[in-house]
Amino acid sequence: MSDPLSSALVLFSGGQDSATCLAWALERYDRVETIGFDYGQRHAVELACRPRFLSALRAALPAWDARLGEDHVVDASVLKSLGQTAMTHDVEIRMTDAGLPNTFVPGRNLLFLTLAGALAVRRGIGVLVGGMCETDYSGYPDCRLETIRAQQETLRLGLGADIRIETPLMYLDKAATWQRARELGGDVLVGLILEETHTCYLGERGERHAWGYGCGTCPACELRAAGWQRWQDAA
Ligand code: ZN
Repeated sequence: MSDPLSSALVLFSGGQDSATCLAWALERYDRVETIGFDYGQRHAVELACRPRFLSALRAALPAWDARLGEDHVVDASVLKSLGQTAMTHDVEIRMTDAGLPNTFVPGRNLLFLTLAGALAVRRGIGVLVGGMCETDYSGYPDCRLETIRAQQETLRLGLGADIRIETPLMYLDKAATWQRARELGGDVLVGLILEETHTCYLGERGERHAWGYGCGTCPACELRAAGWQRWQDAA
């Protein structure tokens, strides 16, 4: 059996960050599998982008195609039953009394990492890769390095396996994430991310902007658009 630490399971949502993480993993590991979660997202657009991005990636970059293994979609819809958030219910995006935007889904990343860890053990995979990032987001507590480190320790103890969690975007802003994508997969990868990934909270895919598809005004679109612009200005 091959060394579990030579293979990775990427938490791939269908968005810009996790697509960049997937490329990062394909550069480093012999075998890479992907996992996505159906958690009753308000808009299924992101989930629909996943298989399209994966097949476009396979077609455009044969060296990565050879390493890219199975894609797994796991039902995590139990999250929706815990209460309303702007990600799972049709409510306006706003700040909550706790000082977090209501796009924060309590427990989401903790659950995702637990499910990914459990699947990784069954698949003989030792490394989980996620796009969690402290830089751009609104202080989501489950995106902080401290949380990720603690979760890694929990998985190692609770699964009895040498599980590592890698978060290659932790301290990158969105401009640097575009740059990282170019370094990893050139303009081909940047083009795939523009065309085939989805970040917009509102699920809009009508208009193609310079930075990709989206409503252009929700917090996720604003971040993506501003990061693209800063990257273009720096080039
Ligand atoms: Zn949007």
